[in-house]
Amino acid sequence: MVVSSKLKSQVIDGGLCTGCGACVALANEGTARIIASAEGVIPEFSKDCELPELVWLACPGKGVDYPQLYQNHFGRLPTDWRVGHIDHLWTGHASDPAIRRAGASGGVTTAVLIHLLETARIDGAVLARQCITMPEQASWFIARTREEIVACAQSVYVPIAMLEALRALIPGERYAMTCVPEQSAALRVLQHGGEARARQIEYVLGPYTGTALDQRAIRSLLRANKVADDDPITSLKWRAGEWPGYLEILTGSGREVRSKKVYYNFLIPFFITQTSLQSMDFANEFTDLSVGDAWSPKFEKLGQGFSVVASRSARMTEVINELMEKRLLTLEQADVLEASGMHGHMIDFKKRGGYLRNQWRR
Ligand SMILES: Cc1cc2nc3c(=O)[nH]c(=O)nc-3n(C[C@H](O)[C@H](O)[C@H](O)COP(=O)(O)OP(=O)(O)OC[C@H]3O[C@@H](n4cnc5c(N)ncnc54)[C@H](O)[C@@H]3O)c2cc1C
Repeated sequence: MVVSSKLKSQVIDGGLCTGCGACVALANEGTARIIASAEGVIPEFSKDCELPELVWLACPGKGVDYPQLYQNHFGRLPTDWRVGHIDHLWTGHASDPAIRRAGASGGVTTAVLIHLLETARIDGAVLARQCITMPEQASWFIARTREEIVACAQSVYVPIAMLEALRALIPGERYAMTCVPEQSAALRVLQHGGEARARQIEYVLGPYTGTALDQRAIRSLLRANKVADDDPITSLKWRAGEWPGYLEILTGSGREVRSKKVYYNFLIPFFITQTSLQSMDFANEFTDLSVGDAWSPKFEKLGQGFSVVASRSARMTEVINELMEKRLLTLEQADVLEASGMHGHMIDFKKRGGYLRNQWRR
């Protein structure tokens, strides 16, 4: 069976597609695209779509073989399956207060991306952001300046087909990319399978990822706040203001809707994506650098933004050390087990919960 038919019948129609965008990026020109559907962002193939077998191997909806990928990528299995292979782990934040405040939890990801660009390790960074022309939609964006990287700071809690951006890379250039866990794993499969554009991604960064929301959560929240469905959204920020931040939506009629993170978390049971339920990777195990909120009474009391920062490669640890020497990052070495305790609820939700949910679905 040709790969596009297999993906359509076994993954997309089966409700398993994560909308990562890898298949669209690797399809022959003009034969595949990402569409918004009731199931979220999914690919659509035309009859003449041709896809290499590697796309099937990399498809996170079909499922990536994590033990095999661990062997291929790290040369061994992880010693701790809850958080994956860790080279170094810290807690802390970006030293620049403006970057710290702009970031979702402490601005570490943004500070690292800026450093990669300014030390000419990369030519651009493939990042996520709420769309400027249509702020209700989120999309990938290739940032090439410090200002553009800062403009893409913050978390986007709706699905984005990040790997679709592979088709927009300029040959010969090197990039960083931010990915959610299933996208990082798919990207590594493509890289180890020799896919040239995937290999242009020199650094993979990404958030610890618990749950993402269906796009329809946004309008539901607005409706609950008596905002009309035809009132256009002019700006949307998921983590505005002081950490842990609030969702801020501005509309054409001048309405400002704000909801603290702890309150809009109540959208999760109603709008959680299928991918969040089926992915068993919380800590973004195939990144070079993964970052999460440092949820602990100690840091929450201090406020202003703190992150858990996990380097998974020696070359990323070198980058972080450079940033600490230049006082661009304020980090303290942390114990893996202690830091994992901050995310015990989500690790359980993914590792045991995901296992059980996938068994039932199977
Ligand atoms: C869907 C989702 C669920 C999350 N769940 C948890 C959780 O349960 N527990 C926890 O501790 N942390 C979670 N996080 C991570 C947290 O919200 C922060 O993203 C993380 O701590 C990094 O903070 P930072 O200040 O270093 O990032 P920033 O400096 O703000 O940089 C974040 C970077 O990630 C990119 N990015 C944002 N959203 C996406 C996306 N959807 N896909 C790809 N790239 C993206 C941005 O473009 C930006 O460059 C989640 C993040 C997301 C996107």
